[in-house]
Amino acid sequence: MKENDLNEFEKYIDFYIDFIIKYYKNLENFPVKSQINPQDIYNLIESKAPENGTGLKDILDEFENNILTGITHWQSPNFFAYFNANTSLPSILGEIITAALGVNVFSWETSPAGTELEQKIMEWLREMIGLPDYFTGVIQDTASTSTLISIITAREKFSNFEINNNGFSKLYNFRIYCSKEAHSSIEKDSRIAGIGSNNLIKINTNDDYSINTQELENAIIKDLESDFTPLCVISAIGTTGSTAIDNIKKVGTVCKKYDLWHHVDAAHLGSALICEEYRHWIDGIENVDTFVFNPHKWLFTNFDFSAYFVKNKDLLIKTFEIMPEYLKINVDNVINYKDWGIQLGRRFRALKMWFVIKYYGTKKLKEIIRYHINLAKYFEDKLKKRKDFEILAPRTANLVCFRALPINSKIDINEYNLNFLNLINTSGKAYLTKTKLNNKIALRVNIGQTYVNEKNVENLLNLIISLKQQLDNGGPGGT
Ligand SMILES: *Cc1c(COP(=O)(O)O)cnc(C)c1O
Repeated sequence: MKENDLNEFEKYIDFYIDFIIKYYKNLENFPVKSQINPQDIYNLIESKAPENGTGLKDILDEFENNILTGITHWQSPNFFAYFNANTSLPSILGEIITAALGVNVFSWETSPAGTELEQKIMEWLREMIGLPDYFTGVIQDTASTSTLISIITAREKFSNFEINNNGFSKLYNFRIYCSKEAHSSIEKDSRIAGIGSNNLIKINTNDDYSINTQELENAIIKDLESDFTPLCVISAIGTTGSTAIDNIKKVGTVCKKYDLWHHVDAAHLGSALICEEYRHWIDGIENVDTFVFNPHKWLFTNFDFSAYFVKNKDLLIKTFEIMPEYLKINVDNVINYKDWGIQLGRRFRALKMWFVIKYYGTKKLKEIIRYHINLAKYFEDKLKKRKDFEILAPRTANLVCFRALPINSKIDINEYNLNFLNLINTSGKAYLTKTKLNNKIALRVNIGQTYVNEKNVENLLNLIISLKQQLDNGGPGGT
């Protein structure tokens, strides 16, 4: 069986490598956002698992003919939607080897190199983004999970491990705070951690959409007066709507004053901290307990890779450690990452990040980040010069939030922009998403795809200008 598989593999592997190369060369020819209808792909796939196997070449052909047609191309340089989940060619190679090794990095013994490379890579990343060396890092799958781990650790610290042991047998009345612009994962995490959506207090923001720390403090005082137990505050470095940056120093001061846990969610913008000029975002880091950012968003390393840093690793381990006989190993003083989070089984994720950092070096990585931010600035400047577009939020890095203004002033501007967005995305030439800021629909252009360049941004500008004319001249939603 192995002989057979290896022969087939050797015979056809070049077709697979060629597919990847061709894919990256031709990526811009595909519609960025998949244009298929719901169920199209589902109906193309046979209804029962095949009884007999298929050769690797035929599988690849079928993949190209059927499945590839239903892909939204996240790696297209014309993908400006959400935040990226970007990858890069060295990352792909690291991922291939991870798959080939197929190791499980849950204890030191199950993967000594996997464990120690993770330890080293997290030290590299900590230094690259300028976090103090009293932070210790561990890779989690996503920011959602990292934030959940942070909330649970805070919960255990403040309940003295009572909830881990006895569940919610007492009433704790915990409260969590974040801004109204903070990510939806915080609410999900609050539910999962047993705190509840209604005990997540969403604080109003300032004009720049960062958290209003006076209102934060007022909310904490009010809760203390009403027998609630303020537990933690989650700050955002880069909200998902508009990349607003909470003042970590001010939030940290409030947390310190009332003895609250402080977690920082820098999922997307954390990558920009590798450039020294953005380090002021983490002024006040000494009053932060845990910090997360996602190299799988903007550090050219394919999904999933979330870098989670904690000030007190003993507290993390005490919260998550569990040691049945079948998992005990005979080596002391080593890291067993199964005790640093939720999963037992863990992929060898450090390898692809190692490939990326080794291949580019930190100098080139900074250059790419700066290039993306400059492209965003260029895009913003072009729109600012025009009277038919309006910028809706301060640009802090590589995201521009804007809307188009209809010629006909009687049209509902929000509806007009939803139609406009639809027109852009169905063109297949670019993919943008939206948010709502101050009740205004804002189109988001996030410039962070690994291989995006000036030409893509120029094409986007031309596209939106011409589609806006089309809309104003009576296209769908027009006058
Ligand atoms: C993307 C994002 C998340 C969620 O990230 P996942 O890794 O997909 O869970 C959380 N917070 C912010 C600010 C984000 O931008």
